[in-house]
Amino acid sequence: MPTLEICHLYPDILNLYGDRGNIISLKMRSLWRGIDVNIHNVSPGDAFYPELYDIVFMGGGQDYEQQIIHEDIVKVKGEAIKEAIENNTVFLCICGGFQVLGKYYKSSDGKETEFLGAIDLWTIGEKKRLAGNIVVELNLEMHGKDTRVAGFENHAGRTYLGKDVKPLGKVLTGYGNNGIDGFEGAVYKNTYCTYLHGSLLPKNPDFADYLLEAALKKKYGGEFSKLFEIDDTLEKLAHDTVINRLLKGLKHKNK
Ligand code: GLN
Repeated sequence: MPTLEICHLYPDILNLYGDRGNIISLKMRSLWRGIDVNIHNVSPGDAFYPELYDIVFMGGGQDYEQQIIHEDIVKVKGEAIKEAIENNTVFLCICGGFQVLGKYYKSSDGKETEFLGAIDLWTIGEKKRLAGNIVVELNLEMHGKDTRVAGFENHAGRTYLGKDVKPLGKVLTGYGNNGIDGFEGAVYKNTYCTYLHGSLLPKNPDFADYLLEAALKKKYGGEFSKLFEIDDTLEKLAHDTVINRLLKGLKHKNK
């Protein structure tokens, strides 16, 4: 039976707005296809095994919580995490978990903290938070699946991407990385970063499957082609209801 090893990094510290729902979605959408799943909760002081994990997940966190993990993610786990990223392990990192993969995070009170530098991006906090519902058009090959994802964002940080880092997508409504360039998130190798809480994956099933297929293709190569369809009636109803409401509001505002 195929198996996925999923690492949940800092589950008790980086977990805003129920971001752990992403782990539940990845696990259940695998089990429903007969794929076994082992979840590895990795906290400060725990070892991080780059060659073991097929998917690594990191949720969001307040500035304070990002400071709590700073020492561990930079000094203890940093090299192993970078090794996994460079080795094309699939990462999904939400908001605070996204920011700490970058070069630094300067909080709204001016405190600049050097973080992992695994991806060429940086974040500068401002007093006004970028908060609200958001819809993003993914900058990914979704093979005919829905290219839009919906979520909720709430961040002081404005993130800017280096030249070799692609955005995850284009903002259709909401703020995105910095409320200026119209882009949201970041993609580097198989690392997918986004500001979308929600949690993101339960009501964006096609993106959840995209991540699962990327991990299964990497692990099993040609033996794996694609996931079979499952009944996503409820997931798609949630997805389409939220997106239609948010984009309809947009059309209304633009009148
Ligand atoms: N503390 C970071 C910020 O305010 C991330 C917040 C979050 O994870 N929602 O930008």
